Amino acid sequence: MDMERTNIRDEARALNAQLVEWRRHLHRHPELGFDTQNTAAFAAEQLAAMGVSEIKTGVGRGGLTAVIQGEKPGGVLGLRADMDALPIQEETGLPFASTEEGRMHACGHDAHTAMLLGTARLLSQHRAELKGAVKLIFQPAEEIGAGAVAMIRDGALENPKVDAIAGLHTGNFWTGASAGEIGYSSGALMASADSFTLSITGTGGHGAQPDRAVDPIAVACQIYSTLQTIVSREVPPAQAAVITVGTIQAGSAANIIPPTCTMQGTIRALSPETRTNIQNRIRDIAKGVAEAMRASASVKFSYGPPPVVCDPGMTAKLLRAAGTIVGPEHVRPVDAPTMVGEDMAFFLEKVPGVFFWHPSALKEGENYPHHHPKFTISEEVLWTGAGTMTELALTWQE
Ligand SMILES: [Zn+2]
Ligand SMILES: [Zn+2]
Repeated sequence: MDMERTNIRDEARALNAQLVEWRRHLHRHPELGFDTQNTAAFAAEQLAAMGVSEIKTGVGRGGLTAVIQGEKPGGVLGLRADMDALPIQEETGLPFASTEEGRMHACGHDAHTAMLLGTARLLSQHRAELKGAVKLIFQPAEEIGAGAVAMIRDGALENPKVDAIAGLHTGNFWTGASAGEIGYSSGALMASADSFTLSITGTGGHGAQPDRAVDPIAVACQIYSTLQTIVSREVPPAQAAVITVGTIQAGSAANIIPPTCTMQGTIRALSPETRTNIQNRIRDIAKGVAEAMRASASVKFSYGPPPVVCDPGMTAKLLRAAGTIVGPEHVRPVDAPTMVGEDMAFFLEKVPGVFFWHPSALKEGENYPHHHPKFTISEEVLWTGAGTMTELALTWQE
C-alpha cells in the first residue's frame, strides 16, 4: 500500500468544506464571457496565499495562469478550469444564489474553479514529491467558445511549455452516472460545434404565377431534405454526427413568392475528418440542389470548438489516478460521447491530454439540465475532482 496516495485521498476529502466555501463565493458572484476579472482576482488571491508563484492575470483578457514548481525534475502538466457563467436569471432559491441580476453559474464552472484551487492547495503541500511543474490555467469565455483560443494566443501553453493537459466537467451531462463516479473516454468525449447560415436566392414574384418566379422556399425544402442524408447515408454508421436546421426564414405574405430564403443550423461531429466532410457536403448539396432548381445558394460557416479527443496514454493515467481517489469500481468508460461542444478541445488540439466527467448529479428526479435557471450540483463530491487532478499531477510521469 502506497501511503503517499492514501494521503491525497484523505487530504482531498478533508478539504471539501473549503471547496464548498470557494464554490459558494464564486456562485454568488458570476461573471460572463471575457469579463471574469473579479473571479480571476479571487483565484489569484487564494493562490498567492498558498505560496503559488508566477501568477499572471490578463492572459486571454479575463484569464489567469500560475505555476506550482515541484522539487524533482520533470515535465509540465497543464490543469485547466473554466470560470465563466451564463446570462440566466437564477431560480434555484439557494441561500448562496447569484447576487448579480441576470447572471448565473448554471454550468458548474464555479465548481471547476473551486476544484482547481483545491488542487493547487494540495499540490503546494506536496512539492517535494512533484516532478517538474504544474501550470494552472483558469480560462474565461468557455460558454462563448473563445476563451481557450485567446489564452493560447497569449502564451498560456508556453513558459514553461506545457507537455500534457487535463481538465474535467462536473454536473449531469453524462446521463445515468451518479455523483462520486468518474467517466472517461479513450477517444472522443465531446463533439465539435460549428454553425452555418445557408442563403438561397431565387426570383420573387406573384404567388399565382410561380412559372415567372424561382421559388426559394421550394428550393429550401429540397435542400433541407437532402441535408438529412449526410448523416444517414454518408457518415459511417458507428460514428455519431448531428446536423440540425434550427431556423428557416422567408416570405412576408401568402400570395408572394419571396426572393430569398435563409436557414441556420448546427453541426456536431466526433472527428476532424467527419467535421470537414460534413461542411464540404453541406456546401455541395446547397449549390447543386439550388442550381438544379434554377436558384443559387451560398453557405457561411461559423467555427466553434473542434471535437474533445482524449489521448489514450493520458486517459490510462487518469484511470489509475481516479481509481486511487474514488475507487476503481467508480471509474468507468462513457457509453457514448456527448454531442455538446467544449472549449477545452482547443487545448487538446495543441497538447495531448485528457478531459473527463466528474458527475455531481443530485438524487434522481431532482436534476435540471445544464444552462437551466434551476441547475445545481451536489457539493459533497467536489473533493473527488480536486483529488483526482492532484493524484494525476503526482503520477502522470510514472
Ligand atoms: Zn455550459
Ligand atoms: Zn461547461
